[in-house]
Amino acid sequence: MITIKVDMDKCQHYGQCVYEAPDIFKLNENNKLEYLASADESERDNVKSASDTCPMQAIQVFD
Ligand code: SF4
Repeated sequence: MITIKVDMDKCQHYGQCVYEAPDIFKLNENNKLEYLASADESERDNVKSASDTCPMQAIQVFD
């Protein structure tokens, strides 16, 4: 399992992470980011890509 944390003070809800890891991140009906705080190991690469892509560097991944 991996643990995911988004700094919502930094997040600007641009949604790039949604494209990189659509099973983890989504924009809700108010265009606000929602995400899963933990995920299967198989999502690691996608979440890492989301973290690398995030323009606000708001996404952290923990083991
Ligand atoms: S890419 Fe970063 S700033 Fe954009 S919605 Fe995702 S976490 Fe927020």
